[in-house]
Amino acid sequence: MIEIKIKFLGGCDGIGKSAILVDGKIMMDYGLQTGGDDPFPLMNDCNHLLISHGHLDHCGSAPLLRKAKDVFATAPTADFTKLLLDDSVRLNEKENKKRHMYSTYDIDLLMSKLKTVSYNEEFKVDGYSCTFLDAGHIVGSSSILLKGDVSLFYSSDTNSIETKLIRGSNGFPGADVGIVESTYFGEDHTPRKDLEDRFIKSIKETIEEGGNVIIPCFAINRTQEILSILGEHNISPYLDGMGVEATKIILSHPSFIKNSSLLKRSFDNVSLVNKKVRKRIFDEPSVIVTTAGMANGGPVLNYLKRIYKDPKSKLMFTGYQVEGTNGRMILEKGLLRLNRNLVKIESTVEQYDFSSHSGDKELKSMVKRMADKGVNLFFTVHGDRDNNESFVEYIKEEVGCEAIAPHTNDTYNVSIT
Ligand SMILES: [Zn+2]
Repeated sequence: MIEIKIKFLGGCDGIGKSAILVDGKIMMDYGLQTGGDDPFPLMNDCNHLLISHGHLDHCGSAPLLRKAKDVFATAPTADFTKLLLDDSVRLNEKENKKRHMYSTYDIDLLMSKLKTVSYNEEFKVDGYSCTFLDAGHIVGSSSILLKGDVSLFYSSDTNSIETKLIRGSNGFPGADVGIVESTYFGEDHTPRKDLEDRFIKSIKETIEEGGNVIIPCFAINRTQEILSILGEHNISPYLDGMGVEATKIILSHPSFIKNSSLLKRSFDNVSLVNKKVRKRIFDEPSVIVTTAGMANGGPVLNYLKRIYKDPKSKLMFTGYQVEGTNGRMILEKGLLRLNRNLVKIESTVEQYDFSSHSGDKELKSMVKRMADKGVNLFFTVHGDRDNNESFVEYIKEEVGCEAIAPHTNDTYNVSIT
Protein backbone atom coordinates (compact mmCIF):
# COMPACT_ATOMS: atom_id res chain seq x y z
CA MET A 1 0.00 0.00 0.00
CA ILE A 2 1.35 3.37 -0.99
CA GLU A 3 0.28 6.58 0.68
CA ILE A 4 0.32 10.31 0.24
CA LYS A 5 -0.29 12.54 3.25
CA ILE A 6 -2.15 15.79 2.59
CA LYS A 7 -2.60 18.42 5.31
CA PHE A 8 -4.83 21.45 4.71
CA LEU A 9 -3.42 24.38 6.66
CA GLY A 10 -5.79 27.02 5.34
CA GLY A 11 -7.99 28.15 2.47
CA CYS A 12 -10.73 25.72 3.55
CA ASP A 13 -13.43 28.10 4.75
CA GLY A 14 -13.33 31.06 2.44
CA ILE A 15 -10.54 32.78 0.60
CA GLY A 16 -7.19 33.41 2.28
CA LYS A 17 -4.29 31.52 3.84
CA SER A 18 -4.09 28.91 1.09
CA ALA A 19 -1.52 26.36 2.24
CA ILE A 20 -1.35 22.60 1.65
CA LEU A 21 1.42 20.41 3.07
CA VAL A 22 2.26 17.14 1.31
CA ASP A 23 4.04 14.35 3.20
CA GLY A 24 5.13 16.87 5.84
CA LYS A 25 7.75 18.20 3.42
CA ILE A 26 6.33 19.91 0.35
CA MET A 27 4.24 23.05 0.85
CA MET A 28 1.95 24.15 -1.95
CA ASP A 29 1.28 27.88 -1.39
CA TYR A 30 1.63 29.74 1.88
CA GLY A 31 -0.75 32.67 1.84
CA LEU A 32 -2.16 35.19 4.24
CA GLN A 33 -5.63 36.41 5.09
CA THR A 34 -5.99 39.75 3.37
CA GLY A 35 -7.96 42.23 5.41
CA GLY A 36 -8.27 39.88 8.38
CA ASP A 37 -6.87 40.56 11.84
CA ASP A 38 -5.20 37.16 11.93
CA PRO A 39 -3.14 37.34 8.76
CA PHE A 40 -0.91 34.28 9.01
CA PRO A 41 -1.55 30.57 8.87
CA LEU A 42 -0.15 28.26 11.51
CA MET A 43 3.59 28.35 11.69
CA ASN A 44 4.71 25.26 9.90
CA ASP A 45 7.93 24.48 8.24
CA CYS A 46 8.74 22.48 5.17
CA ASN A 47 11.64 21.43 2.98
CA HIS A 48 10.27 22.75 -0.30
CA LEU A 49 7.78 25.44 -1.24
CA LEU A 50 5.81 25.58 -4.49
CA ILE A 51 4.06 28.91 -5.17
CA SER A 52 1.15 28.65 -7.59
CA HIS A 53 0.73 32.37 -8.30
CA GLY A 54 1.38 35.93 -7.23
CA HIS A 55 -1.62 36.73 -5.04
CA LEU A 56 -1.15 37.42 -1.33
CA ASP A 57 -3.63 34.76 -0.27
CA HIS A 58 -1.27 32.22 -1.89
CA CYS A 59 2.21 33.69 -1.34
CA GLY A 60 1.84 36.32 1.40
CA SER A 61 3.28 34.26 4.25
CA ALA A 62 6.05 32.57 2.26
CA PRO A 63 8.92 34.44 4.02
CA LEU A 64 7.91 32.69 7.26
CA LEU A 65 9.07 29.35 5.86
CA ARG A 66 12.64 30.15 6.74
CA LYS A 67 13.79 26.51 6.78
CA ALA A 68 12.63 25.73 3.24
CA LYS A 69 15.63 24.63 1.17
CA ASP A 70 14.17 25.66 -2.15
CA VAL A 71 11.22 27.50 -3.59
CA PHE A 72 9.72 26.99 -7.05
CA ALA A 73 7.56 29.38 -9.09
CA THR A 74 7.22 30.66 -12.64
CA ALA A 75 9.20 33.81 -13.48
CA PRO A 76 6.19 36.21 -13.34
CA THR A 77 5.04 34.65 -10.04
CA ALA A 78 8.52 35.21 -8.61
CA ASP A 79 8.41 38.90 -9.57
CA PHE A 80 4.85 39.44 -8.32
CA THR A 81 5.66 37.69 -5.04
CA LYS A 82 8.54 40.08 -4.42
CA LEU A 83 6.43 43.10 -5.42
CA LEU A 84 3.57 42.14 -3.09
CA LEU A 85 5.72 41.12 -0.13
CA ASP A 86 7.81 44.32 -0.29
CA ASP A 87 4.60 46.34 -0.51
CA SER A 88 3.11 44.51 2.46
CA VAL A 89 6.18 45.31 4.63
CA ARG A 90 6.15 48.94 3.43
CA LEU A 91 2.43 49.39 4.17
CA ASN A 92 2.90 47.90 7.60
CA GLU A 93 5.68 50.35 8.42
CA LYS A 94 3.62 53.25 7.12
CA GLU A 95 0.57 52.37 9.14
CA ASN A 96 2.78 51.76 12.15
CA LYS A 97 1.03 48.54 13.06
CA LYS A 98 2.56 45.97 15.37
CA ARG A 99 5.80 44.57 14.01
CA HIS A 100 5.42 42.65 10.78
CA MET A 101 5.90 38.90 10.95
CA TYR A 102 8.73 39.14 8.46
CA SER A 103 11.24 41.70 7.29
CA THR A 104 12.80 42.64 3.97
CA TYR A 105 15.69 40.39 5.04
CA ASP A 106 13.28 37.41 5.09
CA ILE A 107 11.95 38.40 1.68
CA ASP A 108 15.49 38.53 0.28
CA LEU A 109 16.25 35.13 1.83
CA LEU A 110 13.12 33.67 0.22
CA MET A 111 14.00 35.16 -3.18
CA SER A 112 17.57 33.81 -2.96
CA LYS A 113 16.15 30.27 -2.73
CA LEU A 114 13.67 30.72 -5.55
CA LYS A 115 14.15 28.71 -8.72
CA THR A 116 12.02 29.73 -11.68
CA VAL A 117 10.35 26.99 -13.70
CA SER A 118 8.59 26.96 -17.05
CA TYR A 119 5.16 25.54 -17.74
CA ASN A 120 5.13 21.80 -18.53
CA GLU A 121 8.75 21.33 -17.42
CA GLU A 122 9.17 18.32 -15.11
CA PHE A 123 11.51 18.67 -12.14
CA LYS A 124 12.22 16.57 -9.03
CA VAL A 125 11.05 17.52 -5.55
CA ASP A 126 11.57 15.09 -2.69
CA GLY A 127 10.84 11.91 -4.65
CA TYR A 128 8.05 13.47 -6.71
CA SER A 129 8.09 14.64 -10.30
CA CYS A 130 6.60 18.10 -10.28
CA THR A 131 5.09 20.05 -13.16
CA PHE A 132 3.56 23.54 -13.25
CA LEU A 133 0.73 23.91 -15.77
CA ASP A 134 -0.87 27.11 -17.02
CA ALA A 135 -3.87 27.76 -14.73
CA GLY A 136 -5.23 30.68 -16.80
CA HIS A 137 -5.99 32.71 -13.63
CA ILE A 138 -3.42 35.52 -13.79
CA VAL A 139 -0.16 35.98 -15.69
CA GLY A 140 2.21 33.16 -14.70
CA SER A 141 -0.38 31.33 -12.57
CA SER A 142 -0.01 27.58 -12.25
CA SER A 143 -1.81 24.44 -11.36
CA ILE A 144 0.59 21.93 -9.83
CA LEU A 145 0.99 18.23 -10.62
CA LEU A 146 2.94 16.07 -8.16
CA LYS A 147 3.61 12.63 -9.57
CA GLY A 148 4.79 9.87 -7.25
CA ASP A 149 3.38 6.46 -6.42
CA VAL A 150 0.20 8.42 -5.78
CA SER A 151 -0.20 11.48 -7.97
CA LEU A 152 -1.88 14.73 -7.00
CA PHE A 153 -3.20 17.62 -9.08
CA TYR A 154 -3.82 20.98 -7.36
CA SER A 155 -5.82 23.33 -9.57
CA SER A 156 -5.09 26.36 -7.37
CA ASP A 157 -7.01 29.39 -8.68
CA THR A 158 -7.88 28.62 -12.25
CA ASN A 159 -9.81 29.99 -15.20
CA SER A 160 -10.56 28.14 -18.40
CA ILE A 161 -12.20 31.22 -19.96
CA GLU A 162 -9.88 33.07 -22.32
CA THR A 163 -9.56 36.79 -21.49
CA LYS A 164 -8.06 39.72 -23.39
CA LEU A 165 -4.74 39.32 -21.58
CA ILE A 166 -4.18 35.59 -21.14
CA ARG A 167 -5.20 32.22 -22.49
CA GLY A 168 -7.47 30.00 -20.41
CA SER A 169 -6.14 26.95 -18.57
CA ASN A 170 -5.51 24.04 -20.89
CA GLY A 171 -5.42 20.27 -20.72
CA PHE A 172 -5.42 18.20 -17.60
CA PRO A 173 -2.60 15.67 -17.30
CA GLY A 174 -4.25 12.91 -15.25
CA ALA A 175 -3.76 12.10 -11.56
CA ASP A 176 -5.21 10.03 -8.70
CA VAL A 177 -6.24 12.88 -6.40
CA GLY A 178 -7.54 16.36 -7.29
CA ILE A 179 -7.62 19.46 -5.10
CA VAL A 180 -9.91 21.97 -6.80
CA GLU A 181 -11.04 25.53 -6.12
CA SER A 182 -14.76 26.23 -5.68
CA THR A 183 -14.77 30.05 -5.61
CA TYR A 184 -17.57 30.53 -8.18
CA PHE A 185 -19.33 27.19 -7.88
CA GLY A 186 -23.04 27.89 -8.43
CA GLU A 187 -22.43 31.16 -10.28
CA ASP A 188 -21.83 31.76 -13.96
CA HIS A 189 -19.97 34.75 -15.42
CA THR A 190 -21.33 37.13 -18.06
CA PRO A 191 -19.88 36.19 -21.47
CA ARG A 192 -16.69 38.16 -21.97
CA LYS A 193 -17.65 39.87 -25.21
CA ASP A 194 -20.95 41.25 -23.80
CA LEU A 195 -19.13 42.43 -20.70
CA GLU A 196 -16.43 44.29 -22.67
CA ASP A 197 -19.02 45.90 -24.98
CA ARG A 198 -21.10 47.15 -22.06
CA PHE A 199 -17.98 48.41 -20.28
CA ILE A 200 -16.68 50.40 -23.27
CA LYS A 201 -20.14 51.81 -24.12
CA SER A 202 -20.55 53.10 -20.57
CA ILE A 203 -17.12 54.78 -20.59
CA LYS A 204 -17.81 56.50 -23.91
CA GLU A 205 -21.19 57.79 -22.71
CA THR A 206 -19.63 59.33 -19.61
CA ILE A 207 -16.86 61.02 -21.57
CA GLU A 208 -19.39 62.40 -24.07
CA GLU A 209 -21.43 63.84 -21.22
CA GLY A 210 -18.34 65.55 -19.82
CA GLY A 211 -17.80 63.32 -16.78
CA ASN A 212 -14.74 61.53 -15.41
CA VAL A 213 -14.45 57.76 -15.13
CA ILE A 214 -12.60 56.08 -12.29
CA ILE A 215 -11.76 52.40 -12.72
CA PRO A 216 -10.37 50.79 -9.56
CA CYS A 217 -8.27 47.74 -10.46
CA PHE A 218 -6.04 45.21 -8.76
CA ALA A 219 -2.45 45.99 -9.72
CA ILE A 220 -1.67 42.53 -11.04
CA ASN A 221 -3.49 41.19 -14.11
CA ARG A 222 -6.75 43.21 -13.83
CA THR A 223 -5.00 46.51 -14.58
CA GLN A 224 -3.36 45.04 -17.69
CA GLU A 225 -6.59 43.35 -18.79
CA ILE A 226 -8.40 46.70 -18.58
CA LEU A 227 -5.52 48.58 -20.30
CA SER A 228 -5.62 46.07 -23.18
CA ILE A 229 -9.40 46.44 -23.58
CA LEU A 230 -9.17 50.24 -23.48
CA GLY A 231 -6.23 50.18 -25.91
CA GLU A 232 -8.16 48.10 -28.38
CA HIS A 233 -10.84 50.82 -28.40
CA ASN A 234 -8.31 53.65 -28.64
CA ILE A 235 -9.11 54.97 -25.18
CA SER A 236 -6.00 56.38 -23.47
CA PRO A 237 -6.41 56.47 -19.69
CA TYR A 238 -4.36 57.88 -16.84
CA LEU A 239 -2.64 55.17 -14.82
CA ASP A 240 -1.77 55.49 -11.14
CA GLY A 241 -0.61 53.14 -8.35
CA MET A 242 1.08 49.76 -8.20
CA GLY A 243 -0.43 48.78 -11.55
CA VAL A 244 2.40 50.69 -13.23
CA GLU A 245 5.09 48.45 -11.75
CA ALA A 246 3.00 45.31 -12.33
CA THR A 247 2.57 46.24 -16.01
CA LYS A 248 6.34 46.64 -16.41
CA ILE A 249 6.83 43.19 -14.87
CA ILE A 250 4.28 41.61 -17.20
CA LEU A 251 5.81 43.26 -20.26
CA SER A 252 9.16 41.76 -19.26
CA HIS A 253 7.58 38.27 -19.60
CA PRO A 254 5.88 38.58 -23.00
CA SER A 255 5.61 34.83 -23.58
CA PHE A 256 3.18 34.53 -20.64
CA ILE A 257 0.55 36.76 -22.25
CA LYS A 258 -1.54 36.40 -25.38
CA ASN A 259 -0.88 39.66 -27.13
CA SER A 260 2.12 41.51 -25.72
CA SER A 261 2.11 44.04 -28.56
CA LEU A 262 -1.45 45.12 -27.65
CA LEU A 263 -0.48 45.59 -24.00
CA LYS A 264 2.75 47.39 -24.96
CA ARG A 265 0.87 49.76 -27.29
CA SER A 266 -1.83 50.36 -24.67
CA PHE A 267 0.78 51.04 -21.96
CA ASP A 268 2.71 53.40 -24.26
CA ASN A 269 -0.50 55.40 -24.68
CA VAL A 270 -1.38 55.82 -20.99
CA SER A 271 -0.50 58.98 -19.09
CA LEU A 272 1.41 57.99 -15.98
CA VAL A 273 0.37 60.15 -13.07
CA ASN A 274 2.87 62.37 -11.31
CA LYS A 275 2.33 65.56 -9.30
CA LYS A 276 2.13 67.79 -12.36
CA VAL A 277 -0.20 65.48 -14.27
CA ARG A 278 -2.44 64.98 -11.22
CA LYS A 279 -3.30 68.68 -11.20
CA ARG A 280 -4.74 68.65 -14.70
CA ILE A 281 -6.56 65.30 -14.76
CA PHE A 282 -9.93 66.84 -13.95
CA ASP A 283 -9.57 69.77 -16.36
CA GLU A 284 -11.36 67.71 -18.99
CA PRO A 285 -13.28 64.40 -19.24
CA SER A 286 -10.86 61.59 -18.42
CA VAL A 287 -10.51 57.89 -17.66
CA ILE A 288 -8.38 56.91 -14.66
CA VAL A 289 -7.23 53.34 -13.97
CA THR A 290 -5.89 53.01 -10.45
CA THR A 291 -5.40 50.82 -7.38
CA ALA A 292 -6.79 49.61 -5.04
CA GLY A 293 -9.37 47.38 -6.72
CA MET A 294 -11.77 47.49 -3.76
CA ALA A 295 -11.20 51.20 -3.03
CA ASN A 296 -9.88 50.30 0.39
CA GLY A 297 -6.75 52.41 0.11
CA GLY A 298 -4.29 53.60 -2.49
CA PRO A 299 -4.56 56.51 -4.94
CA VAL A 300 -8.16 55.68 -5.91
CA LEU A 301 -9.32 57.47 -2.75
CA ASN A 302 -7.75 60.75 -3.90
CA TYR A 303 -9.71 60.52 -7.14
CA LEU A 304 -12.94 59.58 -5.40
CA LYS A 305 -12.56 62.68 -3.24
CA ARG A 306 -12.71 64.72 -6.41
CA ILE A 307 -15.72 63.09 -8.09
CA TYR A 308 -18.07 61.73 -5.43
CA LYS A 309 -20.35 64.78 -5.60
CA ASP A 310 -20.47 64.84 -9.40
CA PRO A 311 -23.46 62.97 -10.85
CA LYS A 312 -21.94 63.16 -14.33
CA SER A 313 -18.90 61.11 -13.27
CA LYS A 314 -18.74 57.37 -12.89
CA LEU A 315 -17.06 54.81 -10.67
CA MET A 316 -16.66 51.48 -12.45
CA PHE A 317 -15.61 48.49 -10.33
CA THR A 318 -13.93 45.70 -12.26
CA GLY A 319 -14.51 42.80 -9.90
CA TYR A 320 -16.03 41.33 -6.79
CA GLN A 321 -16.04 43.57 -3.71
CA VAL A 322 -15.32 41.70 -0.49
CA GLU A 323 -17.44 42.26 2.64
CA GLY A 324 -16.00 45.00 4.84
CA THR A 325 -14.35 46.97 2.02
CA ASN A 326 -15.14 50.48 0.84
CA GLY A 327 -16.17 49.02 -2.50
CA ARG A 328 -18.81 46.79 -0.90
CA MET A 329 -20.21 49.70 1.13
CA ILE A 330 -20.43 51.89 -1.97
CA LEU A 331 -22.33 49.19 -3.85
CA GLU A 332 -24.68 48.27 -1.03
CA LYS A 333 -25.27 51.59 0.72
CA GLY A 334 -24.03 54.28 -1.65
CA LEU A 335 -21.66 55.41 1.10
CA LEU A 336 -17.94 55.99 0.82
CA ARG A 337 -15.41 56.20 3.64
CA LEU A 338 -12.98 59.08 3.10
CA ASN A 339 -10.47 59.38 5.93
CA ARG A 340 -12.82 58.99 8.90
CA ASN A 341 -15.92 60.43 7.27
CA LEU A 342 -18.74 58.58 5.61
CA VAL A 343 -20.02 60.48 2.58
CA LYS A 344 -22.83 59.79 0.16
CA ILE A 345 -21.61 59.09 -3.35
CA GLU A 346 -23.58 60.94 -5.99
CA SER A 347 -21.67 59.71 -9.04
CA THR A 348 -23.00 56.69 -10.92
CA VAL A 349 -21.56 53.40 -9.63
CA GLU A 350 -21.29 50.29 -11.81
CA GLN A 351 -19.77 46.87 -11.34
CA TYR A 352 -18.31 44.63 -14.04
CA ASP A 353 -17.46 40.97 -13.50
CA PHE A 354 -13.98 40.72 -15.03
CA SER A 355 -13.37 37.65 -12.92
CA SER A 356 -10.18 35.65 -13.27
CA HIS A 357 -11.77 32.44 -11.96
CA SER A 358 -13.74 29.75 -13.77
CA GLY A 359 -17.50 30.03 -13.26
CA ASP A 360 -19.91 27.25 -12.37
CA LYS A 361 -20.05 25.77 -15.86
CA GLU A 362 -16.25 25.64 -16.23
CA LEU A 363 -15.69 24.15 -12.75
CA LYS A 364 -18.18 21.37 -13.46
CA SER A 365 -16.57 20.57 -16.78
CA MET A 366 -13.11 20.61 -15.16
CA VAL A 367 -13.96 17.96 -12.57
CA LYS A 368 -15.61 15.80 -15.22
CA ARG A 369 -12.48 15.94 -17.37
CA MET A 370 -10.33 15.18 -14.34
CA ALA A 371 -12.49 12.17 -13.45
CA ASP A 372 -12.19 10.92 -17.05
CA LYS A 373 -8.41 11.07 -16.64
CA GLY A 374 -8.35 8.98 -13.48
CA VAL A 375 -9.07 11.22 -10.49
CA ASN A 376 -11.28 9.32 -8.06
CA LEU A 377 -10.92 11.51 -4.99
CA PHE A 378 -11.49 15.28 -4.93
CA PHE A 379 -10.94 17.89 -2.24
CA THR A 380 -12.72 21.24 -2.64
CA VAL A 381 -11.07 24.40 -1.29
CA HIS A 382 -10.92 28.20 -1.77
CA GLY A 383 -14.63 28.88 -1.35
CA ASP A 384 -16.89 29.51 1.59
CA ARG A 385 -18.14 26.41 3.41
CA ASP A 386 -21.40 26.32 1.45
CA ASN A 387 -19.60 26.42 -1.88
CA ASN A 388 -17.05 23.80 -0.91
CA GLU A 389 -19.81 21.48 0.31
CA SER A 390 -22.16 22.07 -2.65
CA PHE A 391 -19.28 21.28 -5.00
CA VAL A 392 -18.65 18.05 -3.05
CA GLU A 393 -22.32 17.07 -3.46
CA TYR A 394 -22.13 17.77 -7.19
CA ILE A 395 -18.98 15.67 -7.62
CA LYS A 396 -20.46 12.75 -5.67
CA GLU A 397 -23.83 12.80 -7.42
CA GLU A 398 -23.04 13.92 -10.95
CA VAL A 399 -19.45 12.79 -11.45
CA GLY A 400 -19.63 9.68 -9.28
CA CYS A 401 -16.37 10.21 -7.40
CA GLU A 402 -15.49 10.49 -3.75
CA ALA A 403 -15.20 14.12 -2.62
CA ILE A 404 -14.38 15.93 0.63
CA ALA A 405 -14.55 19.58 1.74
CA PRO A 406 -11.68 19.61 4.27
CA HIS A 407 -11.51 21.82 7.37
CA THR A 408 -8.41 23.73 8.42
CA ASN A 409 -5.76 21.40 9.89
CA ASP A 410 -7.41 18.24 8.59
CA THR A 411 -4.92 15.62 7.43
CA TYR A 412 -5.73 12.82 4.98
CA ASN A 413 -3.65 9.76 4.23
CA VAL A 414 -4.65 8.71 0.75
CA SER A 415 -3.60 5.28 -0.39
CA ILE A 416 -3.69 3.39 -3.63
CA THR A 417 -3.91 -0.34 -3.03
ZN1 LIG B 1 -5.57 34.18 -7.03
